[in-house]
Amino acid sequence: MKLSRSRCELRLKHTFAIARGSRDVSPVVIVELEHDGVIGVGEAAPSSRYGETVETVEAFLSELDFRRFQDPFQLETILNYINQVAEGNTAAKASVDIALHDWIGRRLGLPLHKYWGLDKDKTPLTSFTIGIDRPEVLEQKVREAEEFPILKVKLGGRDDEEIIRTIRKATQKPLRVDANEGWKRKEEALDKIKWLEQEGVEFIEQPMPADDLAGTAWVRERAALPLIADEDSLRLHDVSKLRGVFDGINIKLMKCTGLREALRMLHTARAFGLKVMTGCMIETSIGISAAAQFSPLIDYADLDGNLLTLNDPFDGVKVDRGKLILPDRPGIGVEKRRD
Ligand code: MG
Repeated sequence: MKLSRSRCELRLKHTFAIARGSRDVSPVVIVELEHDGVIGVGEAAPSSRYGETVETVEAFLSELDFRRFQDPFQLETILNYINQVAEGNTAAKASVDIALHDWIGRRLGLPLHKYWGLDKDKTPLTSFTIGIDRPEVLEQKVREAEEFPILKVKLGGRDDEEIIRTIRKATQKPLRVDANEGWKRKEEALDKIKWLEQEGVEFIEQPMPADDLAGTAWVRERAALPLIADEDSLRLHDVSKLRGVFDGINIKLMKCTGLREALRMLHTARAFGLKVMTGCMIETSIGISAAAQFSPLIDYADLDGNLLTLNDPFDGVKVDRGKLILPDRPGIGVEKRRD
C-alpha cells in the first residue's frame, strides 16, 4: 500500500467567523491510498482548536509506514497501528481512515452506504451555516441560503441578540444555534437560551466551554431547548460522560479519526439515548461525502463545509433544497472535478 498527499488551499465565499476567530482561506491535505491498481481518496481538514495544522498533518502522515500492510480490508489492524503512532492528530488519522474506506468501496464497486446496509432515501436535511458577521452581510447570507430549509447560526459573543434579530427580520426558518463554547458562565448561557427559546430555535450546540460538564448540566436542568455536545464530544471515550449533561452529540470525522470510530460513537450514543448530529470543518467534497454516507442513521446533519468554499476540487454528495443526495458511485462517492 502506498499513500501520497497534496495540499489544497480552500478559498471561502465569505470570511468565516465563529466565537473563536475568523479566516478567508482554509488549507486541507488530500491523500491518495493506492493498492493493487485501485486508489482511495481521503482528506484531513485540520483544526487549530484541536492542535492541528497542515504541517502537523503532513508530519504525522510522513511517519506512517504503509509498506508493512498488504491488504486495505484489514481496517482494524491498520487503523489501530495509525492510532498508536502518536496522540491526537485526529484529522490526519481521519484522512487515512477515509481513504481506506473509499478504497474498499471502489474495490467492491459499492457505495459505502450500501455496503453498510443503509437506505439512501433516508438522508436528513442539512443545515446551512451562517457565521458571525455585520447585519448587512448577515442579510445577504440569509438570501444566499434561500434553498436551505434550516439555518445554523453561529453565536457566542456580545452581538448575539443583534444577530438573531437581523436573521429573524429576514427569515422565519427554523434555526439551530452554535455557541462554540462562547458563553463562559452558566447564568449567561441560561439567559441566552431562555431568550432563544422564544426565537424558533431547535437546539443549542456547545453553549459552555468544553469540560464544564457540571455547568452544562446545570443549564440543561433549567432550559427547555436540547443541548448538543461538539467541543465536548471528540472521540468514542467521551460519549459515556455526556449522558445526563447533553441531549445529543455532534460527531465529526476530523475530531474522531474517521468513519470507523464515527460509527462506533453513533451506536454508543444511541445506547445512551442521545441524539446524533454530524458536522464538519471547512472541507472539500471528500470529507463531506464520506460523512454523508452514514447520514441515513443520524438525526441532524450540518454538512455544508464544502458549500462555503469557492474551489472544491471534488464532486460528491449533492444538496437539493437541503436534502443530502448520495451519488451512485462506489466508496465515498467522489470524483475529481474537470473544470
Ligand atoms: Mg459546533
